[in-house]
Amino acid sequence: MRITDIRTVQLTRRFSHPQRNSCDIRTERRFTFVLVDTDAGFTGIGEASGNQNLIAPIIAAHYRNRAVGLDPTDSEGLWRKLYAGGAFWEIGGSPVCALSAIEVACWDIRGKAAGVPVSQVLGGAKRDWIDAYASDLHWDEPASMADLARRYVDQGFRWMKTHIGAEYDRDLLRLEAIRRAIGPDIGLMIDINTVYDRQTAREQGLRQAAFDPFWFEEPIAPADYAGHAWLKERLPMPIAAGENLYTLSGFEPLLACGGCDYVMPDLLRCGGIGQGRLICDAAESAGATATPHNYSGGVGLAATLHLMAALPATRLLEFDPTGTAIYEELFVEPLTVKDGRVRVPTAPGLGVALTDEIIARYR
Ligand SMILES: [Mg+2]
Repeated sequence: MRITDIRTVQLTRRFSHPQRNSCDIRTERRFTFVLVDTDAGFTGIGEASGNQNLIAPIIAAHYRNRAVGLDPTDSEGLWRKLYAGGAFWEIGGSPVCALSAIEVACWDIRGKAAGVPVSQVLGGAKRDWIDAYASDLHWDEPASMADLARRYVDQGFRWMKTHIGAEYDRDLLRLEAIRRAIGPDIGLMIDINTVYDRQTAREQGLRQAAFDPFWFEEPIAPADYAGHAWLKERLPMPIAAGENLYTLSGFEPLLACGGCDYVMPDLLRCGGIGQGRLICDAAESAGATATPHNYSGGVGLAATLHLMAALPATRLLEFDPTGTAIYEELFVEPLTVKDGRVRVPTAPGLGVALTDEIIARYR
């Protein structure tokens, strides 16, 4: 089988209510879907994270001509050729996000060609349902964050994540309101989105520890590996990081210095499903828990479900119940979420499809 073309489709979903975190206010989400066509009639679908203005030109100018003619069922060989095929490598950022999307689409083709779900191509699903955490309780007034937190508990979620970090004292009010609303038994993850320096992370982390966080995510700059290890020694709660790291090589220094407890490769960012699997395996070997990051339109959710189903040591799917992705419409079988768990798709390939109706609605 050979690749005959790679196309991109960009869609936009506008919000009724802005989403805020420590460094960003979003009023819309843009999704770039990457379609890989083959001479066998199969089209694979991927999705690109990264700068949404850059993905389409990167694919058109950097990857498309080099990918046409390659065998999509050899996703490892294809990945190596596209990642390391020249004298100068693109080792991170949007180029690796674009490559991740192509690679994920190739896994979709592998599954469709074999008539089995991607989890089967990955060695078989070891579980049919994955425990999920609700992501996210975006930065807002404490009372409205607490209301939403309570609704997530009522929906059945046993874990949830909040984004704070832009304020110090008022962030404690947010955590206090959320913890009071959800009670002591629900896991509460805190995500700082990298805005603290080491000392601020230590000071604020010690104050936030009073609310029993399940983990403390991306407190500092992603490549300050030693800083993560420094912080882990000084804070009582587990450290989570990794959504801003690329390829196994980017994770190895973090694992080597013991800098985090929960390792968060994003399959749409880290290089794709193949690199994601290597990173999850390396995390397990290093004594850390892999918990893939997922902030996607829906293709990333499907890819993450398949990989987590195949790798039983991974824990806690990042699931977006805010209604700002396009999860339900993309899934071929109904997306089933029950008691805080999400069912692994069983349709051939990833189990998602970009229909004309979706394109017309979000173009
Ligand atoms: Mg995060």
